[in-house]
Amino acid sequence: MRSVSIFGATGSVGESGFDLLMRAGGPDAFRTVALTGGRNVARLTEMALALRAEIAVTAFDDALPALREALQGSGIEAAAGTGALTEAAMRPADWTLSAIIGAAGLAPGMAALSRGGTLALANKESLVCAGGLLRKTAMAGNATILPVDSEHSAIFQSLGADNLDSVEHITITASGGAFRDWPMERLASATVAEASVHPNWQMGQRITIDSASMFNKAMEVIETHEFFDLPAEKIKVLIHPESILHAMVTHKDGGTIAHLGPPDMRHAIGYALNWPARQPLPIALLDLAAIGSLSFSEPDEARWPALRLARQVIAAGGAAGAVFNAAKEQALADFIGQRIAFTEMAPRVEATLDRMAKQPHFGQEPHDLSTVLDWDRAARKAAAA
Ligand code: NAD
Ligand code: MG
Repeated sequence: MRSVSIFGATGSVGESGFDLLMRAGGPDAFRTVALTGGRNVARLTEMALALRAEIAVTAFDDALPALREALQGSGIEAAAGTGALTEAAMRPADWTLSAIIGAAGLAPGMAALSRGGTLALANKESLVCAGGLLRKTAMAGNATILPVDSEHSAIFQSLGADNLDSVEHITITASGGAFRDWPMERLASATVAEASVHPNWQMGQRITIDSASMFNKAMEVIETHEFFDLPAEKIKVLIHPESILHAMVTHKDGGTIAHLGPPDMRHAIGYALNWPARQPLPIALLDLAAIGSLSFSEPDEARWPALRLARQVIAAGGAAGAVFNAAKEQALADFIGQRIAFTEMAPRVEATLDRMAKQPHFGQEPHDLSTVLDWDRAARKAAAA
């Protein structure tokens, strides 16, 4: 029986992963090792009971008493805190879904990679802030990283057995988010509620706002660079409001292989779950005649300065990814907390990058987790409103 764990089970991606496991037989088909969540103890408990998990972990110490009480008599262990997350990730599992939001997903992801198995990676932040370290850890642990971000799963699937040497460039698409058609002068007064609505995807609030600011796509450009080892100039972004075509691989011989499908994360998660095989998934099949037409345009970098910053981060290397991600997380938290305007996020991230670039060792790639976390802490402090 295959053993599985989900980190960030109670989130948007985690729920989709849980749904797939349940549809595929639940506890009769999988031995669930660990499920983790945040403050939604009731949902975490429900999931742990349904999959008969070995351990349920909440990220927050103050939620432990409630989790303990809810799981009493079930035989399921309860634990809390970042140490417990890492400990749970060290427990062997064949397949681990990394679906925590933010840099908090890095430590558990590294722990999972160090003990082998497959890490199905939705947590793009870990690749952005510590791509080299993650790959090194996977290599040393004989582990496999599979992409779960829809664009990266699409690239992975489009590439198939093709050699990267034949690739001219890769294109990932972006819907344009909530403010694609807003007049530029209105953006400064955009509210959190307005930014928290995505035209096509149902996702957690933070990534939805990152889609409106295009920071999500900026992160994905860096993720593409880290995952597929492609230089920045070979990674293109195309605005595609319908979110049907997720990515394309253009080869030097003029052939372009694209991946299409409805915007449903269960495809990418299920692909990573069943890889290298393909199994039926509960995904609506593509009906292009019903959709009628697909449209594409160049992204406007004045509207979305985050895209320029992503290329700057790739060019800088070293600690730039960790600083970029942390400054972005801080600016986003400050926007959600209504301390800064929507349009202040990108300038804040850029100023933090500029400031931190003057620090010693900025150009060196962080060689261990604690160095990444040091940069992360310093960048959050520098970016804070
Ligand atoms: P979400 O906010 O819905 O869920 C996040 C999960 O992480 C929850 O289980 C939450 O309890 C947990 N969590 C929150 N803070 C934590 C902390 N400090 N420590 C440990 N756990 C914590 O997020 P999401 O939208 O599901 O996104 C999860 C990840 O997947 C992100 O990295 C995101 O970029 C990526 N992703 C999401 C989608 C999507 O459709 N939602 C698509 C592609 C990639
Ligand atoms: Mg994506």
